Amino acid sequence: MLKGKFSFVVKEDEVSIKIYKEVKDFLIYHNLKECNNKPDYIIVIGGDGTVLSAFRKYLDIVNDVKFITIHTGHLGFYTDYQVKNYKNIFEDILNRAPQVESYPLLAVEAYCTQGNMLTKNYALNEITFNNSMGSTYVAEVYINDEHFENFRGDGICISTPTGSTAYNKSLGGAVIHPKMDIFQVTEIAALNNLVYRTLGNPVILSKDEVLTIKPKNQVNNNRLSIDQSYYSNESLSKIKITLSKTKKISFLRYNNVSFWKRVKRSFIGE
Ligand code: NAP
Repeated sequence: MLKGKFSFVVKEDEVSIKIYKEVKDFLIYHNLKECNNKPDYIIVIGGDGTVLSAFRKYLDIVNDVKFITIHTGHLGFYTDYQVKNYKNIFEDILNRAPQVESYPLLAVEAYCTQGNMLTKNYALNEITFNNSMGSTYVAEVYINDEHFENFRGDGICISTPTGSTAYNKSLGGAVIHPKMDIFQVTEIAALNNLVYRTLGNPVILSKDEVLTIKPKNQVNNNRLSIDQSYYSNESLSKIKITLSKTKKISFLRYNNVSFWKRVKRSFIGE
């Protein structure tokens, strides 16, 4: 039986709230404690968007907690149970040993023109750059401190392997197995001419590499998005992105649904 303290993050819809009440009653009946302060397990009931919110809420203690997920959203890349089988969670918590799957996160450090740090943060899906006023976003792109390209276009998306099925996929990026310690850079509608020339393909970087974006501030209204949240700052001058060396997210898995089965189920059909 799972021992420890539980907390919940629940999407505000009828189905998710109903399941939440049932699971909560089950925990109380079995003397398992609900605790929002320092839980050991976070039960997420909702979609992948709800998992992003739960990750953000517990980011400070993400290495110390495990996420258990019941899917009531549309796709369910992070989620383990579905509405049709969620009642199995009761038997599983009491009698079965789960698998633990840990996935990489992006670490981002954003600096202002004066050199001070705007944010040190982490992303579960992706980080995107664009121009909040709708005109093109202009930036120099460096890989490991070497100049790589001058970008001009709608924006740049940098995704984790688990984020590869989200925004990255809409941009033509590769779908990446989430056990791989790599991250991906995809262009959002790049202009290509004699001044601004980009590779034109998604780029995959290894866990030891650093991507640096230097926005051209005369033309940009910088918008930096980290999963569901964003920062707008005109004096943003340098953003360093790498795979986090200190943080990972871990999920408890009771259902043996392979990543490729999830991909097929969501995008191709059974
Ligand atoms: P939203 O616009 O309400 O929903 C975005 C959709 O993306 C939802 O259907 C969500 O699934 C799905 N999703 C989230 N993470 C996913 C993942 N890792 N793999 C596959 N699908 C995933 O926004 P939100 O719920 O706040 O989620 C924010 C995410 O939206 C961003 O991180 C970004 O990846 C994505 N996004 C995509 C585009 C695009 O494809 N053009 C543009 C902007 C943002 P559920 O229904 O299960 O929650």
